[in-house]
Amino acid sequence: MSSHDDCIFCKIIAGKIPCTKIYENDSLLAFMDINPLNTGHLLVVPKEHFETVFEMNPELYGALYAALATIAKAVQAAVQPDGATVMQLNGEAASQVVPHLHVHLVPRTFGDGLPISSWQEKSGDMDNIRSVAEKIRAQL
Ligand code: 5GP
Ligand code: ZN
Repeated sequence: MSSHDDCIFCKIIAGKIPCTKIYENDSLLAFMDINPLNTGHLLVVPKEHFETVFEMNPELYGALYAALATIAKAVQAAVQPDGATVMQLNGEAASQVVPHLHVHLVPRTFGDGLPISSWQEKSGDMDNIRSVAEKIRAQL
């Protein structure tokens, strides 16, 4: 399993630095975010070091979200938020800070004011949407 010496999450996975663990199995670890955006903010990470979705195999990526779906129900029961945001940032352009893939589960409350609430409204250009869709389908 690949591990990076200078990666903070690889160190957490190896037990070299502590975390507040929620769940783990052979392939993934869930732990509380050290700087929570809201009460109950946690992260789910693969134990193997992958930087972004672009390097990761789809099965493992799916396993992260399957675990997250189970954990989300526990968070809902424990914290009783009004909702939750699930997000996973890929690359500096997407504001990823820690370059070890991680899925955020952020419990949300009405009026929490977090800057992740809504997409910027933009008017869609259907010709462009269809032509990009064609290019993506051609790669699948
Ligand atoms: P992103 O890379 O998606 O922007 O976010 C990285 C997340 O990792 C942040 O929410 C940050 O608070 C969290 N984080 C960074 N370093 C640590 C750490 O050492 N321990 C824990 N538990 N979380 C961390
Ligand atoms: Zn790592």
